[in-house]
Amino acid sequence: MQIADQKAVTIHYTLKDDEGTVLDSSKGREPLGYLQGAENIVPGLEKALAGKAAGETVQVTLTPEEGYGLRDDKNVRNVPLRKISDKKVTVGTQVQLRTSEGAQMATVTAVRGDYATVDLNHPLAGMRLHFDVEVVAVRDATPEELTHGHIHQPGGHHG
Ligand code: ZN
Repeated sequence: MQIADQKAVTIHYTLKDDEGTVLDSSKGREPLGYLQGAENIVPGLEKALAGKAAGETVQVTLTPEEGYGLRDDKNVRNVPLRKISDKKVTVGTQVQLRTSEGAQMATVTAVRGDYATVDLNHPLAGMRLHFDVEVVAVRDATPEELTHGHIHQPGGHHG
């Protein structure tokens, strides 16, 4: 069976940056399950995996546009500390910020007085992504999975 829209796909992957540093990997963990065509994974990776079958490997380099998008300086903002957390906020802390587009994750990049500088860009925005992928399994998604827009892994908790 080949990967196509509405297939439940399981992959092992390693993600590296331009320098070859491993940013993320499923090695030593459960493989990643996703629903093809539902934007569970970045668009360029979906495109690279379409048509592949279990056992195949894919090596692909994605531009930022095909990955997590370009960095946008407008996504870097100063916010009062009391608005983001009641806990101690330090540089590198991930916080949840309420914006006009709803709750978004942000990274604290500076703390000065009662204000923090937060970056709403995805940590991997603006980066070229080098993926090494092994397709573990491909099956038809269930009607319930299609309704939910994600797959249900055996023994996994519902997200
Ligand atoms: Zn579900």
